[in-house]
Amino acid sequence: MIGPYTFEQFKEKASRIHGFPAPGLLIGGCMVEAAKTAIPSGVRLAAIIETTKCLADAVQLLTSCSAGNGRIKIMDFGRFALSLFDSGNGEGARARIDPRKVKDFPEIEAWLMKTACKEDQDIESLWSEIERAGSDICDVSFVRVRSDFLVNVPSGGIAQCPCCKEMFPSRDGNFCRACKGESPYIRERTDLYDGVTGIVLAGGKSSRLGFDKGHIVPCETNDENLLTRTARLLGRLVPRVIIAGREHPEFESWRDDIPDAGPVGAIATALRRVGGPCLALACDMPFINENTLSNLLAGWEIRSPGTLLTTFASAETGQRETLASVYEPGALKYFEDCMAKNLLKLSKVVPEEYHHVIEYSREDATPFFTINCPADLAVARLIKKLRP
Ligand SMILES: [Zn+2]
Repeated sequence: MIGPYTFEQFKEKASRIHGFPAPGLLIGGCMVEAAKTAIPSGVRLAAIIETTKCLADAVQLLTSCSAGNGRIKIMDFGRFALSLFDSGNGEGARARIDPRKVKDFPEIEAWLMKTACKEDQDIESLWSEIERAGSDICDVSFVRVRSDFLVNVPSGGIAQCPCCKEMFPSRDGNFCRACKGESPYIRERTDLYDGVTGIVLAGGKSSRLGFDKGHIVPCETNDENLLTRTARLLGRLVPRVIIAGREHPEFESWRDDIPDAGPVGAIATALRRVGGPCLALACDMPFINENTLSNLLAGWEIRSPGTLLTTFASAETGQRETLASVYEPGALKYFEDCMAKNLLKLSKVVPEEYHHVIEYSREDATPFFTINCPADLAVARLIKKLRP
């Protein structure tokens, strides 16, 4: 028996839910029963499954836990194990297969260790071994589940994500987790931000680096240089991209009206010529990505009236990321004032009262990393190598 079912009945149930009476599901049924025996009856169960394979279906067939009622949590540890526990206090039992106990069941062992390929496995003998073994191959231990994994944790408020406009738990921060970069989809948003022009700030002399930043190829597996990468990235979000400060074969480009005024001169030129909001982006940020820029543009869409600069700011230090920001045409007069006084520090141009700020935390700071000197470049290469 597996729970209230005979082995044949359980196989039938397994076929219906899984498409096939998969050995993992049948063994999983035995594991669920083994764990259940170690838990007092009558408790409201929840489950943690430590693999994406089979076991969740066994739990759904044999307990009141389901993915839909939120009482199954799947952790992709790749361990063929599950635990059932009291959803109130987290006390319960974990079942796994004991490698020593499968020695008497060669078909199960071959299946578990994947030593036989699927075609060589005798499925009928495997099924009969599973029926014979039942819970005997399981090892059950008592566990206490961490409180943050308990199902009844109060969820806090609900907010609307400014990026995708969908509702999400506000405990996740400013944006929903999908818009922070965890989305499984390559592209969720298909429309461009029509009102914004992308400006790649490419006129810098790279004097501290000793050679041209724009030509850096940050990732060995990708032959795009930083300048092209930055421009293409913007091109996925806004309809028009201009490279400010140098020519480029693929993109519209121009020289700044006032040379040698750095990003201040470049943004002033753009605001004057475009006459509309400009997303200015430095070409020396190897980790800037589509998600970050989408978040910036989503913040820009909901900026308060009178905003002249939509920008990211570090939650810890308050420092603005003015080299990845949206500037409004109304900011032009501040640029002209500063240039007239030869004050060329970009972060000082637009007074703070006109900033619309999107905060980011220390963990989300990587996209703003900038290459200024050879040591930065070395660090960037190191990070890129460490990341998939
Ligand atoms: Zn979102």
